[in-house]
Amino acid sequence: MANQHFAAPVAQSDPLIAAALRDERGRQQRQIELIASENIVSRAVLDALGHEMTNKTLEGYPGNRFHGGGRFVDVVEQAAIDRAKALFGVEYANVQPHSGSQANLAVFYLLLKPGDRVLSLDLAAGGHLSHGLKANLSGRWFDAHHYGVDPSREVIDYEALSEAAERLKPKLLIAGGSAYPRAMDFERMSQIARRVGAWFHVDMAHIAGLVAGGTHPSPFPHADIVTCTTTKTLRGPRGGLILTNNEDWFRRLQSAVFPGVQGSIHTQVIAAKAICLGEALQPAFRDYAAAVCTNARALAETLIDRGVRIVSGGTDTHLALLDLSSKGLTGKQAETVLERANITSNKNAIPNDSPRPPEWVGLRLGTGAVTTRGMDAADMRRLGSVIADLIDAEAAGQSDAAVAEAAKTVSALCEAYPIY
Ligand SMILES: *Cc1c(COP(=O)(O)O)cnc(C)c1O
Repeated sequence: MANQHFAAPVAQSDPLIAAALRDERGRQQRQIELIASENIVSRAVLDALGHEMTNKTLEGYPGNRFHGGGRFVDVVEQAAIDRAKALFGVEYANVQPHSGSQANLAVFYLLLKPGDRVLSLDLAAGGHLSHGLKANLSGRWFDAHHYGVDPSREVIDYEALSEAAERLKPKLLIAGGSAYPRAMDFERMSQIARRVGAWFHVDMAHIAGLVAGGTHPSPFPHADIVTCTTTKTLRGPRGGLILTNNEDWFRRLQSAVFPGVQGSIHTQVIAAKAICLGEALQPAFRDYAAAVCTNARALAETLIDRGVRIVSGGTDTHLALLDLSSKGLTGKQAETVLERANITSNKNAIPNDSPRPPEWVGLRLGTGAVTTRGMDAADMRRLGSVIADLIDAEAAGQSDAAVAEAAKTVSALCEAYPIY
């Protein structure tokens, strides 16, 4: 049969890729994942991502498509829209953005013209590159200015933000970031935006699952428009969402996404988004979100007890930012010694860090994935002391024994909490 190769499973048709897929599955099972932007999706989400719905090309929106054959995808996209609205308590949702950055791009396309001024959280204070980094389109096309954190408390300096907004009169004020461990005061920021005539955009990518689960204040009703990823704490596929209560904007937003910045939808991903949003609507998701934050606090407190400085002194979210200069290490050194013991994390800038990534002294740890595996606060204390042992050993210049010891604990934890 001519189609035999075509119908074969990947293990037969493409051994190179099959081996990498198998190895990646093994790596995830064997390693403890503390990268704050990662999570582990449900079997149902995986089913959708590997479904033949991926074959379907569609542009437009449910009931109004540019191609035929969209009946079943319409069911899926409408469910994703309805669930997103119910989950976040908003009037309008667009579930098509291919990623968080793409969702932000659509918002900029909707609200801004090239050269318009935006004010966003500084990258070194935990902001995101899609909020006006010079190397990103957002920084190239818009006049991006940044607010930061108070140097002693390391939380957003709302006074300074207010002054900067008065002085700069931005068109758009953006809240949100990827390495900011504290709850943001959306109400206060929206008041600042109103006072200076700016629109207020919240990018809740990292914390969307915490907002959904009720452990972080919601950006609504304060924000004019909200974007997020469905990855990270929302525990879904790689993709974005846009939410708003503004009917007039919403109509224009639909065309800002398509055909503004995207073409056809990623049909199978929309199905996976619908599933993850359905999961987040279940009562168990509230327990999950609460456990994520409890775990992050337990991890941070254990490290503080062991003499590691934590930026802002703790966390209100799923992530903690370690300052390794308190131990004489760089973030990269800590990341490397942790990875030797099968713990994955990432180096990160902390407020007022070096502009050069190799010199950054921060390490970002997040508890979204370990909590999905079922680990609890006692496990986090155990893990925290393993991490402190590794850091101390690396700082003392003799990490081999500590790595071997830590790897044993990591292996026991991974076996106790299998992924699927
Ligand atoms: C992760 C993140 C994004 C980008 O999401 P991608 O899907 O990686 O493009 C945007 N904004 C913030 C605040 C993020 O943390």
